[in-house]
Amino acid sequence: MTHSAAPVLDLRSDTVTRPTAAMRRAMAEAEVGDDVLDGDPTTRRLEAMVAERLGTERALFFPSGTMANQSAIWVQTTPGTELLLDADAHIIQWEIAGVAALCGVQVRPVHAAGSVFRAADLTAAIRSPSVHAPEPSMVCLENTHNGAGGAVTPLPELRALTAVARTLGVPVHLDGARLWNAAAATGTALADFAACADTVMVSFSKGLGAPVGACLAGPADVIARAHRARKRFGGGMRQSGILAAAALHGLEHHLDRLPQDHEAAAYLARLVDGVGGAKVVMPDTNIVMIDLPQPRADEVVARAAALGVRISKWHASRVRAVAHLDAPIDAIAAHAPSLARALAEVLS
Ligand SMILES: *Cc1c(COP(=O)(O)O)cnc(C)c1O
Repeated sequence: MTHSAAPVLDLRSDTVTRPTAAMRRAMAEAEVGDDVLDGDPTTRRLEAMVAERLGTERALFFPSGTMANQSAIWVQTTPGTELLLDADAHIIQWEIAGVAALCGVQVRPVHAAGSVFRAADLTAAIRSPSVHAPEPSMVCLENTHNGAGGAVTPLPELRALTAVARTLGVPVHLDGARLWNAAAATGTALADFAACADTVMVSFSKGLGAPVGACLAGPADVIARAHRARKRFGGGMRQSGILAAAALHGLEHHLDRLPQDHEAAAYLARLVDGVGGAKVVMPDTNIVMIDLPQPRADEVVARAAALGVRISKWHASRVRAVAHLDAPIDAIAAHAPSLARALAEVLS
């Protein structure tokens, strides 16, 4: 192993967390079975807990949020139809056109007039039925919204979006990879958010700190079909209780600390806003988007890394820093000045 002199604070994503010693212990001690053959007890326990918290009939454990999103779309759409979602959705930007390749569905990217997708944007995108136009088959929502800087869509707006989808008579899928953060930031119950959708995906490998995993939750019949989709996509997992134990541990021990990440992100945002002309989108949750006055993201990322803080490039003039379990506020307080320095040096 190489030994670096500078202490490194990794703010590239909340996915970089490593399982804590206690989480690893919970994994090591998990009661397991063959979940493809006849069931894994720890996985059942996780699924029951998630269904209960989200207020859905059933939840199903998946190896990734991407597979859960794709399965939800695969079972609720038909080829040759169109999926309405905001243009910056994870499903469009980061799932390598899975909906086209796997589901035969076309995406209809809807551009939000403001920073987040609203019911008015969706309404404006609806076209009159025509023999020439693709039929809509689903609306996908994302809360919190990664591309919008971890922005929360508050419950009334989410309900309004769903109401528009209902006028189209199509199901709603909620990409809730960070729904935990939306609930923590607003005090809105997870179940109230989840009730806005037919299916909901929640992730364990972001703020909750588990190594992998997500659940898809919804009505029992839809989740039974998603189980077949998971099998077809190669997502059957055998002693999955080892992973489910990590997710359970995250729910039991890391959910309550998410407000600390939100505080850390707000602290970081205040510290770097305006430095070198950079403009920060004040975060609702744990993601800080920093807009640069010049397209110099590569240089900012490189300079920050040299000074001991890793962040990620979002696009040429935007960088992202994310607060998480392994980046507590005191570590951020200690190293954030280096990020400010990198911005000042590159942008001066
Ligand atoms: C991370 C993420 C996903 C995908 O989850 P994976 O487990 O990494 O596949 C989906 N949607 C959003 C908004 C995410 O942030």
